[in-house]
Amino acid sequence: MLLPALSLPALFASRVFLPLFAVALAVRFGPDVPLLGTLGLLAGLPVDAAPGWLTSDLSIAVLGTLSALELVAHKSGGAREILNELDPYVKPVSAALGVAGLVSAAGGWPAAEGVAAASLPAQAGLGFTGLLVLAVAAGTFLLAVARRAVLSDASELDADDDTGLLGLFSWGEDLWSVFGVFLLVLFPVVVAALVVIASCVVLLMYARSRRREARSRVACDACGDDVPRAALRCPHCGVERPDAERVGLLGGPKMQRVGDRRDHAASLRAVHRCGVCAASLRERHPEQDCRLCGRPAFAGTADVAGLDAHVKARLPWVLAACAGLSAVPVVGLIPGIILYRLALIAPYRRYLPRGRTLLVRWGVRLGYLLLIFVQLWPGAGTLAVPAMALLAWSSYRRSFLSLAAESVPAASGPASSAALPA
Ligand SMILES: [Zn+2]
Ligand SMILES: [Zn+2]
Repeated sequence: MLLPALSLPALFASRVFLPLFAVALAVRFGPDVPLLGTLGLLAGLPVDAAPGWLTSDLSIAVLGTLSALELVAHKSGGAREILNELDPYVKPVSAALGVAGLVSAAGGWPAAEGVAAASLPAQAGLGFTGLLVLAVAAGTFLLAVARRAVLSDASELDADDDTGLLGLFSWGEDLWSVFGVFLLVLFPVVVAALVVIASCVVLLMYARSRRREARSRVACDACGDDVPRAALRCPHCGVERPDAERVGLLGGPKMQRVGDRRDHAASLRAVHRCGVCAASLRERHPEQDCRLCGRPAFAGTADVAGLDAHVKARLPWVLAACAGLSAVPVVGLIPGIILYRLALIAPYRRYLPRGRTLLVRWGVRLGYLLLIFVQLWPGAGTLAVPAMALLAWSSYRRSFLSLAAESVPAASGPASSAALPA
């Protein structure tokens, strides 16, 4: 009982209601299921001893409804942000209820666990349960905070989920928080070991992301304020920074000095950042002002052309890499798609309002359908991913350029002689 109870934080750190719903179901129905009832913890549970506050029809109906709402809410960006704010405070409460439910379902501490419940005075048993509940709540709080930091880091890097990994992770967490509970009840030791490993991974990622954040900013030479390492100018005092550093495909710092400053501005815009001070841009539109330095995201058509040229220059190596990857059957498809979505499409898509990308998205999907059939032909597989990349690139590019032509002023500043390419 102790081991699985101490594993609960890893389940409740992911979701609030789903794991509690699973605990209620396992405790209520588990012992009645012929084979399952003899396994793991369930073997120790007396039938019909389930606590009513957790397992009555009403409680299960309410928990089921809340779990369904939670499932839906985690799939929408806005609701997820609100949930992330509340999470670390609500999850420990839910975890405490979960462990209290498990303990009271077992009718206290089963003698087989080494803690001889019968020989303990009732007071000591209660005190021990209280300590356990507190420990589980505290563990859940710590893990939930670490999880939130790691995830917000990831969604800062990949705000649009261009890699698709955040969506996949969200589904993984849903499955884990439901089936993890059942597995925990059935195979306590195996799951406890897995939980220790997973918790260590989350805490390590947390430590890493804190280090990365500290590394991504420096003090301005002139005014001493915090400046992103990639900034060409300080957003606070406006002084030029000769030692700006390059950024990667996800906007992370690369620890390399910038060579071509105009191309660096384009590479910042490609990761949805201000081309001058490197602050993240917030809106999905080419016409917006940086919230830190106040400059427009695209001061003129030269900036639009600069971004377009920067992305176009990636075409040869991205297409070559996609061809190489798609030569590997099945396995190569996913990294190929992630690569071209990040390198070729995200730079344009980040500036397109969602409604505007609807038609493009469906057009591209239809194209994919055709290409999947092409990939079935022997030998044509190598060309399928580069063809998909080209198709998606040209669709999103056209969409972005036409929106930019409507909304970005033709000329501004000294470097605006370059015309918008067709
Ligand atoms: Zn400064
Ligand atoms: Zn700025």
